[in-house]
Amino acid sequence: MKISEILKERKMSLSYEVFPPKKESSFDSVKTATEKIAKLNPSFMSVTYGAGGGTSQYTLDIAKNINDNYNVPMLAHLTCVSSSKETVHKRINELKENGIENVMALRGDLTPELENSDRKDWDYHYAIELIRELKSSEYDFCVGAACYPEVHPESSSQKEDIRHLKEKVDAGVDFLTTQMIFDNSLFLSFMYKIREAGIEVPVLPGIMPITNANQVERAMKLSGAYMPQRFRSLVDIFGSDKQAMTQAGIAYATDQIIDLYANGITNVHVYSMNKPEVAEGIKNNLSDILGKEFSWK
Ligand code: FAD
Repeated sequence: MKISEILKERKMSLSYEVFPPKKESSFDSVKTATEKIAKLNPSFMSVTYGAGGGTSQYTLDIAKNINDNYNVPMLAHLTCVSSSKETVHKRINELKENGIENVMALRGDLTPELENSDRKDWDYHYAIELIRELKSSEYDFCVGAACYPEVHPESSSQKEDIRHLKEKVDAGVDFLTTQMIFDNSLFLSFMYKIREAGIEVPVLPGIMPITNANQVERAMKLSGAYMPQRFRSLVDIFGSDKQAMTQAGIAYATDQIIDLYANGITNVHVYSMNKPEVAEGIKNNLSDILGKEFSWK
């Protein structure tokens, strides 16, 4: 099923993101974790794509297993910047042949080597080139793209970032998912700006439940996201106690999600990081809320 169709329902729902194994020896444990998450019956699940495509086969394998055996719509990520057209087209064909209807079209991060290259012989420079190819292909994919409420680190201004985002949407993107956010007010002011800029597709806020103090540094480095003091205090107090931090991280993420639902956002995307217990904890906290329709009437 296409994610664009699911989002039309306006029901309060969760989707979960998982990542593929980096090596064959961990394939089974990742498969088991993703199956447990699928059993929680999310609106859909997404599987990330290793930068450069090194582990791309596993993205398809994990997505296909859930799509075929658990009846959960799947979103397969695909990056383009460090790949040739030939590789990308091969991946696109494989996704279609294996029944994947939804693709998250991404540029991918620039390694220091890529950043210093003259970029002349690259087949792809920006996600929009991949989006155009997906949308003009013979296949009728539902296409998602990334957006950055706190501005993409390479952009010189939010205005410029939103201008490029509008170009992606005009190229045919069906929905957007945000970089992780820890402060909903930043997301809501971003929504106001992009709607003003004429971007009207659904936007799924990305929520990362932090359940381990070591994740904090990494998440901040990766995303550049602002960590509110309320959240930092929680890590200061509970960070050294694994169970307490898990409970506090799930509670913080749940609180963010409820606030988003109350502000009219119906599908929240949870960066569940192959942790079924975290995905389940959030779902249980929302048991009387999930499935409700957002309406002012
Ligand atoms: P783009 O949309 O191409 O934007 C990149 C930068 O270029 C931005 O600053 C933008 O403003 C600018 N730009 C865009 N178009 C133009 C133009 N025409 N001219 C000049 N500047 C332009 N990475 C992975 O490797 N695998 C994943 O599975 C993955 N999943 C992700 C999922 C989400 C929801 C998010 C938010 C990110 C994900 N990433 C993933 C990381 C992503 O690849 C990086 O953030 C990357 O740096 C940018 O990707 P993009 O698709 O947003 O790029």
